[in-house]
Amino acid sequence: MANNEFQSLQGMSDIQAPEIFLWQMMEERARAVFNSYSYDELRTPILEKLSVFQRSLGDTTDVVKKEMYSFKPSKHELAMRPEGTAGTMRHLAGRGEEGLNARVFYIGPMFRYERPQAGRKRQFHQVGVEATGEPNPLADAEAIALQKSLLDAWGLTGSKIQVSTRGEPSDRQPVADGLRAALQPHLSDLCDDCQRRIDENVLRVIDCKNENCQKVVDQVPSAIEFMSDASRAYLDQVIHALENMGVEVTVNPKLIRGLDYYVHTVWEISHSALGAQDALAGGGRYEISLGKKSVPGVGFAVGFERAIMALNACGIEGEQFAPDCGLWLVSLGESALTENMKLAAELRSKGIRCGMELAAKSMKAQMRKANRSGAAKVIIRGDEEIEKGTVMVKDMAEGTQEEINLEELIRDA
Ligand code: AMP
Repeated sequence: MANNEFQSLQGMSDIQAPEIFLWQMMEERARAVFNSYSYDELRTPILEKLSVFQRSLGDTTDVVKKEMYSFKPSKHELAMRPEGTAGTMRHLAGRGEEGLNARVFYIGPMFRYERPQAGRKRQFHQVGVEATGEPNPLADAEAIALQKSLLDAWGLTGSKIQVSTRGEPSDRQPVADGLRAALQPHLSDLCDDCQRRIDENVLRVIDCKNENCQKVVDQVPSAIEFMSDASRAYLDQVIHALENMGVEVTVNPKLIRGLDYYVHTVWEISHSALGAQDALAGGGRYEISLGKKSVPGVGFAVGFERAIMALNACGIEGEQFAPDCGLWLVSLGESALTENMKLAAELRSKGIRCGMELAAKSMKAQMRKANRSGAAKVIIRGDEEIEKGTVMVKDMAEGTQEEINLEELIRDA
């Protein structure tokens, strides 16, 4: 008990300095990139009615079936959001016409009751976008280009974009029938889960990680081959538009993406530094029905934790984005303490990071704290300096000390 008392829950982390500086950089740059593509931020609640997720994500997905944190405090069953699209769509559907032509992004925590491991957490963070309306391959290509711009802005290199298609809703049945018929002769070579999935949700067989299942999948036609010409033409247009923008992608017909709401383009970005959980981001075009409305859109989500693992592998660390350590004020005596409170307020109003000891402590104790703060310069004041209107400035790296006028310090700070 004693040991666990101060630990966060399994699969959920406290994020602190210096790693937090990386998060801050990523959030700041993400906002700038989204703004440049004319997206506005949307913050939806973490809790929604469970039905919001069931309706959007589909009842048969793992996320809804097994991974939701849900509870029933009163009349409605509630759930903590496992992803950002469903809540965003619930919001946009409520905005009427305007919501059907919106471009929004979100940044925040998501919750899935999964088995925690490297790169897989129960509370994780996503940054994502949704653009509604425009059922047009150019919108899909633009969303993929935006996602690439985001990774570039973070300084992340070495990621790989794989694109595929789920086709139109009318392709679902021919795809399922075609795949089932093609897989049937190999049934005994499939894993136990896939033997069940072949009837329940045959697409899941295609992206099963089991080696034997993959061997079988390699021998049968891909889902795309059972789709209509129009669906294949749509994918070609997306690829063409991406080529035009100089965004490199690979077509991978085995890429499925589990959620029911996808139509046409789906994509995933992976990074070799991530090991088994190599998906860094995913996205796709969807049709989400909310009540009587069907909202078309395209969107993606990037996982922060995985992006950080990839950034770290590229040598990008939180320390590089640490704020300037600023100044530390040392007060020798009661009146210096009072005067330094005023000085600190003035420096802080100029945006300077400024720390000080608030109790009357010895010079030695205060210098120890100043050192720990990492401040490059320490400002020392006692009765004598107050009398003269000066301060002693100690350069911590050089170990040198000089006396300057207080006005000069404020002016040049
Ligand atoms: P998904 O909504 O499942 O398509 O996930 C989109 C992205 O969110 C993934 O590519 C991961 O980067 C991230 N992600 C999803 N689930 C988790 C998790 N349990 N832990 C950490 N990151 C996750």
